[in-house]
Amino acid sequence: MEQKLKGQIAIVTGASSGIGAGCARELAKAGATVIVNYPVPGGKAMADAVVNDIIQNGGMAISHKCDVSREEEVLEMFETVIGQFGTVDILVNNAGLQKDAPFTEMTLEQWNFVLGVNLTGQFLCAREAVKEFLRRGDTGKSKSIGKIICMSSVHEVIPWAGHANYAASKGGVMLMMKTIAQEFAPKKIRINSIAPGAIATPINHDAWDTQAHLQELLKLIPQKRVGQVDDIGKAAVWLASDDSDYVNGTTLFVDGGMTLYPGFEDNG
Ligand code: NAD
Repeated sequence: MEQKLKGQIAIVTGASSGIGAGCARELAKAGATVIVNYPVPGGKAMADAVVNDIIQNGGMAISHKCDVSREEEVLEMFETVIGQFGTVDILVNNAGLQKDAPFTEMTLEQWNFVLGVNLTGQFLCAREAVKEFLRRGDTGKSKSIGKIICMSSVHEVIPWAGHANYAASKGGVMLMMKTIAQEFAPKKIRINSIAPGAIATPINHDAWDTQAHLQELLKLIPQKRVGQVDDIGKAAVWLASDDSDYVNGTTLFVDGGMTLYPGFEDNG
């Protein structure tokens, strides 16, 4: 495999499981040195398993604990990574979670918790990444001086009853991404989002864990298969590489057609 990201340093947030782990593995295969971020001390074993897997496959990675919703921890993560590796070239803003509730029962705590990780966490990491790209400038490693990939969701455009906090966070990610892409495109920084559809990970285990649940889920997916984490990881490699150099401020939907109004598949 051609190593399109050789010599580049990539932070992937929330990378000890699911899509983040898939992105970490694919970025490492493409030659990047990957920082596998995890939020709580208990996550170290899982993060280290991803790191070991990458190293065994000939890649380079380390794990790093940081809760992306806490400013001081984000600052410390960037400082440590820049101190150890000299810079950061790629940020995959992936960490995210759900705290679902019917709207009238949703507590302020549930609202703030989801917005804090899914939106504020992406803001804090993106801000530190952009500051580092501007400080370091052009190294000749890539046509851009830095790339950010925000993990959004089909729910940046599909409303989702019972998940107002989550859908609001992803809608927020969409306009934050577009706004900062507009602000920093003249500085040769590329910022895009990936909007996954249904990807089999711990976050949505209940949606595909039984045949009955899986059949219900497949009704929403024209391609009739649940996505896998490497579907997203490969898209992340493309968005981080010079192959997508003229792509900026856009959301790449990787969803098997979920956003194609599948309810109209059979004549509506
Ligand atoms: P996941 O639960 O496996 O991954 C989420 C990761 O985020 C976990 O590793 C978790 O430890 C980490 N995390 C949570 N809070 C954090 C914090 N404060 N700081 C740092 N890390 C934190 O689920 P996933 O499906 O892999 O989700 C990854 C991203 O993809 C999320 O942003 C999610 O919204 C998005 N997404 C997933 C799907 C899907 O179908 N799986 C669809 C659309 C979007």
